[in-house]
Amino acid sequence: MIDLHTHSAASDGTDTPAELLAIAAAAGVSVLALTDHDTTAGWAEAAAALSVLGSAGGRAGMTLVRGAEFSTESPDGRGGTVTAHLLGYLFDPGHPEIVAEQERLRTSRRDRVRAMGERMAADGLLVDGEALLARLAPDSPAGRPHLARALVDAGVVPTVGAAFDGLLRKGGPYYVEKENTPIAAAIAMIRAAGGVAVYAHPFARRRGPVVDGSVLRELAATGLDGVEVDHPDHGPDDRAALRALAEEEGLLVTGSSDYHGANKTTPIAAETTAPAVLDALVARATGAEVLAG
Ligand code: AMP
Ligand code: FE
Ligand code: FE
Ligand code: ZN
Repeated sequence: MIDLHTHSAASDGTDTPAELLAIAAAAGVSVLALTDHDTTAGWAEAAAALSVLGSAGGRAGMTLVRGAEFSTESPDGRGGTVTAHLLGYLFDPGHPEIVAEQERLRTSRRDRVRAMGERMAADGLLVDGEALLARLAPDSPAGRPHLARALVDAGVVPTVGAAFDGLLRKGGPYYVEKENTPIAAAIAMIRAAGGVAVYAHPFARRRGPVVDGSVLRELAATGLDGVEVDHPDHGPDDRAALRALAEEEGLLVTGSSDYHGANKTTPIAAETTAPAVLDALVARATGAEVLAG
């Protein structure tokens, strides 16, 4: 079982990287990618946890693919833009451009959580963005899931999902935009750092407007390696359309859970990637090693 998209508490998941690996191993995952938003801060702990897992019980070890989910902005193919997530795998985490850009985006994320918290506080909602940020690592990529959890803890909403559907929704009264990287620049940056780039959940429609297929075709011609087809937010028709497009454009097709621990209901390995696709991604990457436990 190969799951190429998961989050730890280094971004907006709820499990530490070590806990995430243990959960994955217990679920029978053989290859796990750690893809926190706009950070590689969880890589070291995940790598250390892998060696501990590998030495336990004589079980076949798990393999760790280190990556990240980059916050980007993409042309929508209709003259406008949409926010887009781009998975980068096996890039050099010390590449100066990536270091600087991830830092810029994380700063913007914290400013935005602060601003959304202030808007909510002004309306009497019991959310203190500043206190929330103080509980996170100083340079962490804070996001709406952290605000959602604070709203749940304050008894304002019953679940994280309800917070996203209501108070925190894009275009809602408390929504503030954050900085993103133009997607073509993000693809170039990941590849320059020896990594491979996969467009994450391109047709996740419940999050807002999505790209036209024409954009994926253009990105395929300019360095995009693959597209995430099997994702919990994709319906059957969209999966079929994406699969056909990927076939025509020579894009690799991945599947993954986008596991976020208790911040989402999806279990780890709810969707998976074919071994041949993993092999192709790894064969193209030169920025970081796949780690065997
Ligand atoms: P942000 O990037 O801060 O705007 O928040 C988006 C993040 O929240 C992404 O990581 C999504 O995976 C997560 N997310 C989006 N919609 C939902 C939802 N309905 N329930 C839980 N998490 C969500
Ligand atoms: Fe997330
Ligand atoms: Fe995403
Ligand atoms: Zn994700």
